[in-house]
Amino acid sequence: MNRTIEKVFKGAPEHWVGDGFHVSNYFPGATDFEKRMSPFFLLDYQKPEEYAPTTRKRGVGAHPHRGFETVTIAYQGSVAHRDSAGNAGVIRPGEVQWMTAGGGVLHNEFHEETFAKAGGIMHMIQIWVNLPRRDKLTAPKYQGLTNQVIVETPAEGGKGLVRVIAGAFEDKKGPASTFTPAHMLDLRLRPGAKVRLPTPKDYNTALLVLQGKVKANGAKAATAGEFVLFKNDGDEVNVEAVDDSIALFLSGAPIEEPLVHYGPFVMNSVDEINEAIEDFNSGKFGDLKD
Ligand code: MN
Repeated sequence: MNRTIEKVFKGAPEHWVGDGFHVSNYFPGATDFEKRMSPFFLLDYQKPEEYAPTTRKRGVGAHPHRGFETVTIAYQGSVAHRDSAGNAGVIRPGEVQWMTAGGGVLHNEFHEETFAKAGGIMHMIQIWVNLPRRDKLTAPKYQGLTNQVIVETPAEGGKGLVRVIAGAFEDKKGPASTFTPAHMLDLRLRPGAKVRLPTPKDYNTALLVLQGKVKANGAKAATAGEFVLFKNDGDEVNVEAVDDSIALFLSGAPIEEPLVHYGPFVMNSVDEINEAIEDFNSGKFGDLKD
């Protein structure tokens, strides 16, 4: 049965993350929304925006995270990162970085040097995926999901692609390893493309339209920048592209645990937040120079 739409909304007015990412936040924001999209805790979206050429580092310098994962999807432009666990890499258009901060990591996120020098359009998303209590302090790790490993399946009639980042579409499984069950699908659709996305009824589910115009479950078309949140009242979402479209489908099993958030830390209790602050201040997250 098709899910009904709970609401359609746009992100908050843009704010800067460092000097490299001019993002609109969709949740948690001021709406106390984090539980409604659990296990996804935060979504920041940099809509396509032109950056002038520069020779300086543009982005955000060393900062900590604990208790969750950061997932960065590059649509246009390239993001370079380095972390205190010794990982470094570049996220290029179409690629995804799935970083498990777990017990604690310091990292930085900059426009990749060649891209920054040439200038160009940056278009990206960052999603924070919460970790359940049992995995909050897991060892940090990093999955660089290149275009070679992201699984692409043609949409019905060959009118576009479903790119499976995590979870599954039809019989294809995505490359990301997740701690709790979740689907993350990058939909690249041509006009008239139809895709049926089955998902368990209790999974929190939404579709963010990044480009073009998309109908979900027969409703009025949603346009670029609109976030379509579904009620947990059905077991599928049917998407139909009206124009050339890009959309991100998110669906995951909720983590039913208390949640306390402070800046870059997402934990289960205030005590754990205080411990994270102490550990960060005493250097336990390691060392990272920008
Ligand atoms: Mn970060």
